[in-house]
Amino acid sequence: MSDLFIDGAWTAATSGRTRDCIDPADGTVIRSVDEASPADVRAAIVAARAAFDDSPWRSTTVADRSAILDRIADLLMRDIESLALIETRDTGKTLAESRIDITDVVAVFRYYADLVTTSSDRLVDVGNPAVISRVVAEPVGVCVMIAPWNYPLLQISWKIAPALAAGATMVLKPSEVTPLSTIELTRLIAEAGVPAGVVNLVLGAGSDLGAALTDDPDVDLISFTGGLATGKVIARTAAEHVTRVLVELGGKNPHVVFADACATPEAMSATVDQVLTGVFLHSGQVCSAGTRLIVEESVADDLVAAVADRAGRIPMGPGVDPASLTGPLVSAQQLAKIVDFVAVGVAEGATLVTGGHRSTEPRLAEGYFFEPTVFDHCDRSMRIVAEETFGPILTVERFTTEAHALELGNDTAYGLAAGVRTSDAARGERMARGLRHGTVWVNDFGYYTPAAEWGGFGRSGNGRELGPSGLAEYQELKHIWTNT
Ligand code: NAD
Repeated sequence: MSDLFIDGAWTAATSGRTRDCIDPADGTVIRSVDEASPADVRAAIVAARAAFDDSPWRSTTVADRSAILDRIADLLMRDIESLALIETRDTGKTLAESRIDITDVVAVFRYYADLVTTSSDRLVDVGNPAVISRVVAEPVGVCVMIAPWNYPLLQISWKIAPALAAGATMVLKPSEVTPLSTIELTRLIAEAGVPAGVVNLVLGAGSDLGAALTDDPDVDLISFTGGLATGKVIARTAAEHVTRVLVELGGKNPHVVFADACATPEAMSATVDQVLTGVFLHSGQVCSAGTRLIVEESVADDLVAAVADRAGRIPMGPGVDPASLTGPLVSAQQLAKIVDFVAVGVAEGATLVTGGHRSTEPRLAEGYFFEPTVFDHCDRSMRIVAEETFGPILTVERFTTEAHALELGNDTAYGLAAGVRTSDAARGERMARGLRHGTVWVNDFGYYTPAAEWGGFGRSGNGRELGPSGLAEYQELKHIWTNT
């Protein structure tokens, strides 16, 4: 097998090792893929370095790069059904979710295809008519892109699209848990005409390849999305070479519901929808999942009862079954982690209202299915409230005043995203301004657009993806002073 893509060629790993990709819906092996050795990683970095230093890629016109990005978007749309099936089998998410991911990825490639054609060069008036002073954007150089398993195609594309637009070169390292869609995306990138060495792909575990990827002076930027612990290791390693680092980490996201959002049966039903989608999409394996429900005391009992009732009836099953609204957890390891977290919640004294177990349906017995779970009467001293569980667990805290709600919403080391539901527009705006999170949704949850920045406050990371800032991450600024 030759699953690595180095300097324009599909290449077998020199390690001689492979890793099984498991379908989490039934525990079967989808296929095995090559596992790179550190030497393969070095070869990929050397190829990316040469492609940056010696090839015309970085001096192609923005019009050429824009056309290539559009071509990648066209190819993604051409192959959307086969890609969606691969993503669903590798991650467990439903086919509908995979299709949405791919159309979102297409939108990101199109967005940067368009954005890059609008010059960001800036003229500066230095008060001397003989001098032309310009600030121009140039590609950052060689980038290492490390991605997580929950949105494999989407997360890596948030990096690839702006980096290609900027004229950078790169080495991709998808999660070892879900590498399959990134292999296919790399094929499409090559088919679109991206020159050899500009995009390289290595596969394998971070524990094996992390040092080779991040402790290398030939790398100019590391763009990482994943967990906090890994992000710290990468940032420390990168500091050795003063390598630029963009880290997008976890979240423990508050979802604040005011009583006025539950005032009528229709309002209550819409609020329940928002809470459920916010937390249980992709079985809660979403960095921005609204896992902390912070609800006004006067409506808490009613809202929790309604949420728990509906959560217990979410159709669960294999992602390829159109009847499924939620699929399995991604791996046996993730399942074990969620089982542990439930035990922690019970031991901490939270009230288990619904769920808390592996699915008991016989047809799901071989997969990693876990019931949507709600814990009531939680408080911030509990680990299930403070730590990212990354699974289908909702915790409930109660508040009495707006100030109290804000205090609870900001009481997290993270700061990725937050939701607010209220019929009072002024209060929605006050909360949006007061919450220290990278994205705040008012009367919605989970939406994003390629044109608006995504990223975290606090320990949710630094830098921004998407939007104009997402392109700037892959650029260096140069001041050119010309005395005419
Ligand atoms: P992870 O940190 O375990 O792994 C992420 C990637 O890092 C994988 O490719 C892994 O192989 C690699 N890696 C592991 N150790 C490494 C090392 N020492 N050096 C270099 N690379 C290494 O995270 P995960 O479990 O794959 O993903 C879940 C996490 O990702 C959650 O915390 C989630 O919140 C976060 N996430 C954040 C965002 C965001 O936009 N902020 C988006 C999606 C996921």
